[in-house]
Amino acid sequence: MKVLKSEVKLCLSCMEEHKVDIVEVMEHEVFKGVEVDFPAIYEYCSNTDEYLENEDMIHANSLAIKDAYRKKVGLLTSKEIISLREKYGVSQKDLSEILDWGKATITRYENHQVQDRAHDDILRKIDSDPRWFLELLKRAKDKLPQKTFEKYCHSAREQYNKQKNQYLIASIQALYAKFEGEDKTGSVELDLDKVVEVINYLAQNVSVLHKVKLMKLLWYADILHYKRHGRSITGLVYSALPMGAVPEGHEQIVMLDGVSFDTVMYGDNVGYKFKPTPGLEIKRLTADELETIDKVISEFGHLNTDQIVDRMHEEEAYKCTEGNCIISYSFADQLSIE
Ligand SMILES: [Zn+2]
Repeated sequence: MKVLKSEVKLCLSCMEEHKVDIVEVMEHEVFKGVEVDFPAIYEYCSNTDEYLENEDMIHANSLAIKDAYRKKVGLLTSKEIISLREKYGVSQKDLSEILDWGKATITRYENHQVQDRAHDDILRKIDSDPRWFLELLKRAKDKLPQKTFEKYCHSAREQYNKQKNQYLIASIQALYAKFEGEDKTGSVELDLDKVVEVINYLAQNVSVLHKVKLMKLLWYADILHYKRHGRSITGLVYSALPMGAVPEGHEQIVMLDGVSFDTVMYGDNVGYKFKPTPGLEIKRLTADELETIDKVISEFGHLNTDQIVDRMHEEEAYKCTEGNCIISYSFADQLSIE
């Protein structure tokens, strides 16, 4: 028996005023044929050695039995249903409406009724698949006020983007799991927040920033910082491609949340022109790191793509690395800038 709190009040068990403990007790019951253990809350009278339930406690204890049951048979608990609904900022009534369920269905599931398996599956799918929820929303468009509809679509899209970003991060991290050794990573673990910040800082300070040039500037910043301080800024691993250094996972990196670009056509090719992301603050990069990046910008920021590729081709680090192989940070000493 765990005492949650105590208060002096009229005790309805012994009908005297005294200190009454509110206690949590583990209970065992059979619900829908399943044995469950759950924490129940009572008032405890030490005079009569009795447990009492007030209205709120009856409600909470009944919910606790059902949640214990739901957990045991693998259904979402009431809290999980509330949290998935709140993730999308949708009201109980509107969610019921969107799903074409009875108006009070969600309210009941969040309070006193255990959902059936089919409804549980649908709620889980909404939780894990914001794009599907967006489809459901569109189907229910006419049932919702325009403003409400737009608000829900907006948060569904936000959830979708968040999820997409999590997949991207996971896929980059999976790619980097195989890289070991400070000569590859510059003695730093991959820090994607910093990668996003460096890209934004470059986009803020370099007037024309296409992808090839961005890749080179990232490499110069990392290897120059390694030369100066014995560690790279981002932990990115670079390979020697014909156009110079390119970070592993570059295709995913440019799609990360916080990286912005316009697509531009060069003849038949699509190119990226990077730009600062509105509202993105530079807060993870240290003063030393910004100083390094500033040096790289002053040295290379004004060069066009061909010029910077030419510079890269003259670097010992590039000349001494076989095509498509990882460029070692150990070449930092021979870098053309200090
Ligand atoms: Zn009492």
